[in-house]
Amino acid sequence: MPKLKADMMIDVQSQARAIAERLEDVRERVVRACQRSGRRAGEITVVGVTKKFPVDMVTAAREAGLHDFGENRAQELISKAKALPGALQGGTIRWHMIGHLQRNKARDVVACADVFHALDSLRLANALEQRAAEAGRVLPCFVQVNVSGEASKFGLDPGEAHDVVRRLTEYEHLRVVGLMTLASPAADPEDVRPQFRRMRTLFETCSDVAPMTSLSMGMSGDFDVAIEEGATHVRLGTLLFGPRPA
Ligand SMILES: *Cc1c(COP(=O)(O)O)cnc(C)c1O
Repeated sequence: MPKLKADMMIDVQSQARAIAERLEDVRERVVRACQRSGRRAGEITVVGVTKKFPVDMVTAAREAGLHDFGENRAQELISKAKALPGALQGGTIRWHMIGHLQRNKARDVVACADVFHALDSLRLANALEQRAAEAGRVLPCFVQVNVSGEASKFGLDPGEAHDVVRRLTEYEHLRVVGLMTLASPAADPEDVRPQFRRMRTLFETCSDVAPMTSLSMGMSGDFDVAIEEGATHVRLGTLLFGPRPA
């Protein structure tokens, strides 16, 4: 029988123990990064990125003490949230949609995401606003900024962010909570420190027009530096769950 990734079997108990150990290391690193930068560890939310893993990985991670989970594809988010509902649907975890969204999937994300990290255009904002109004909810959103300037990445140009954030304050069913970015891949996380620093500056500039609290930046390879530069949400996949299935 061909081995499909959906067939990947997970022993929830042994995975939960493995994740708990990695999470302890991560939390120690969070504490140290906060100490180095005069921050409190309580300001940091670790979002476990479970994309490509089966939903049992989420169950295991929840047993290990993780409450926030990120997915980058609408379809995968929907099917996992069906099995394990987020707070919006009365569950005890929070689902973060962290990937680029097509407007025709806006309704799906509004139906099950607790938080949206990838708001990258006003056209998408219009679609989400309409769907959120229909659903009678307010969707907390991060505005995604392409701080590295790589053509392959989604996100607003840094120069557009302030104007977009200002306009978003007029949307009744979207609440801008902060900014999000993906830094360039780098062998040495110090290389991307200037990108995180620029996001922090942009965050402060945009705070003039919206009461923002959050900065979503930092992944497995660079999260310590991201925290030193002001991240409140770090999105960790590989470091918590190991290499993703192909
Ligand atoms: C996959 C992904 C992550 C996690 O990446 P790791 O390097 O495995 O930690 C974080 N953010 C986004 C938007 C992702 O798509």
